[in-house]
Amino acid sequence: MAKNASATKRRLFLQGGVCFYCREPLALSDATQDYVIAKSLGGSDGDDNLVVCCRSINQYFVNCSVKMKLDTVLKYRGKLPCLIKGANQGVRVLEI
Ligand SMILES: [Zn+2]
Repeated sequence: MAKNASATKRRLFLQGGVCFYCREPLALSDATQDYVIAKSLGGSDGDDNLVVCCRSINQYFVNCSVKMKLDTVLKYRGKLPCLIKGANQGVRVLEI
């Protein structure tokens, strides 16, 4: 197992097997690591800054500040839709 995959697996375990943002069960094959504070903004490679989340949510959050990520999660009032499941189950993304 590659070092990055091992770190993803470890962090996913520590998160209880769910996506950090949508809280849905997350398969390791769909998991990716997200820098809460972007590395380009000085975010670290440590557990204090890396979370495991759905690939699709990670793509939406690319280049988003912590403020934007928090704002998005708050807008969904703790029910941020899992975009992987949404694609298969017709979950509608909140239109802002
Ligand atoms: Zn998710």
